[in-house]
Amino acid sequence: MVGQAARLLHQRGILARLGHPGAPPVGQAFQFGGIGLDLTTAPESPLHGVSTSQQELESALAARADEMGVDLRRSTELVGIAEGPDRVTARVLDGAGPAEIDAAYIVGCNGAHSRVRDLAGIGFPGITDSTVVSRSAEVTIPAATLVPERAELELPGVGALGLYRWNRTPRGAWSMLPRASGTLLVSALEWEHDGNGDDSDEGPATVPEVAAAIERVLGSRIPMSAPAGPGPHQLRRRRGRNTRIAETYRRGRILLAGDAAHVHNAVGAPGLNVGLQDAVCLAWRLAGAVRGTPRLLDGYERERRPAADRVAVHTQAQTLLLSPGAEVTALRALLSEWVREPVVVGRLATLLEGPDVRYPCDADAHRLTGWFVPDIDGVDHHLDDPRPVLFDLGGAPAERPHGVTVVELAVAAPPVGALLVRPDGYVAWAADESGPRDATALHHVAVALGSDA
Ligand SMILES: Cc1cc2nc3c(=O)[nH]c(=O)nc-3n(C[C@H](O)[C@H](O)[C@H](O)COP(=O)(O)OP(=O)(O)OC[C@H]3O[C@@H](n4cnc5c(N)ncnc54)[C@H](O)[C@@H]3O)c2cc1C
Repeated sequence: MVGQAARLLHQRGILARLGHPGAPPVGQAFQFGGIGLDLTTAPESPLHGVSTSQQELESALAARADEMGVDLRRSTELVGIAEGPDRVTARVLDGAGPAEIDAAYIVGCNGAHSRVRDLAGIGFPGITDSTVVSRSAEVTIPAATLVPERAELELPGVGALGLYRWNRTPRGAWSMLPRASGTLLVSALEWEHDGNGDDSDEGPATVPEVAAAIERVLGSRIPMSAPAGPGPHQLRRRRGRNTRIAETYRRGRILLAGDAAHVHNAVGAPGLNVGLQDAVCLAWRLAGAVRGTPRLLDGYERERRPAADRVAVHTQAQTLLLSPGAEVTALRALLSEWVREPVVVGRLATLLEGPDVRYPCDADAHRLTGWFVPDIDGVDHHLDDPRPVLFDLGGAPAERPHGVTVVELAVAAPPVGALLVRPDGYVAWAADESGPRDATALHHVAVALGSDA
């Protein structure tokens, strides 16, 4: 998981459940379309990241939801929606047969093929690149030795193989990712229009098929086999790639979030970052709406669609950079020169961390307003709060709005005097030192958030 979502989960204590008790680490190196980025040269905006499996993350989120009294129903399929002026009814099928669930709103967080989106009649425009085939398998490579300090795999007869990144060759791209269990996730990307993507494979993917794809791309045979034990072990073939964004995130009482609202290439791992941030942005707005402030829902798409647009841009750019062709090689050569400039690394790190989109705010708003809360010592510990949090770092107005949690923090050389942080971690208001004008602005912002009515 890459980017701000890692900090978001830290703020909620969910990373600790995943065995990461401290703040998420700042990466030293990353990649953009397989071009290495030395993040230690970036002047600011380091990139956060945490290694976990999606299954473990989902279990941790489910455990927290359960503790908070959420009624989580497994094996319950949504099959229909009936919308009235004040309520909406979900028609579901579970083990006991058909049932109806009455609600104020329905949020479709049901993935790329969202039934909710279809039932609401919301289009999903975008592009499908059907020339690309990706294959991946979780395997063991018994002859290989892991060299963690160089992030390489040493294989007799083949040499050193770079880990954790896409490696481009004239025939496609390959990657190898060590797993905590000691296995490796190996992946190959091939483009059919260059005659490299063998499309003769039918039926479920197999380890020999993935090994053959790696051999075509890499030019060397890597002896690999399925791991011992019951699994499940990842094994997949995927033809085509989609970049699509829902034509609207809301129709009446029906809303969309995560992959139901946007899909893009997985390169750079932006999916959970953008999807989890949709969820937290919508959550406090929905809570306000059901308590009587429905206007709060208006800001959801305004804030989140530009983030999805930005992810669509950088994932398509990264996919192009991995594809074969002399022009792409030339573009990579230029970009490889530019990423030696700290300012370029910083821009790319900010793009991947965020994305680099400021939420709409007044033209004269403080420079931190509209951005994810900066990494100030002690702030993250106070952000598992359903209400906005006013941090007084020595410059908050004496008059505090109602409905916000106030935290006084003593920080050496604070970068700002006071901050109002929304439940989704974004700064709603900030001031360097407070005068009467700031107190009025703070009050207005708190009212806009539904807190100081
Ligand atoms: C190969 C691959 C690798 C990836 N790697 C990464 C990575 O390293 N990092 C990263 O951040 N992201 C990664 N992603 C993207 C990430 O997996 C998705 O962005 C993320 O899972 C989206 O979450 P979601 O909850 O929106 O949808 P999903 O995870 O698709 O969940 C949707 C849920 O809705 C349920 N559902 C569907 N229809 C119905 C219905 N009618 N009734 C009831 N339930 C229904 C489904 O069963 C499912 O549980 C990767 C994706 C792929 C394909």
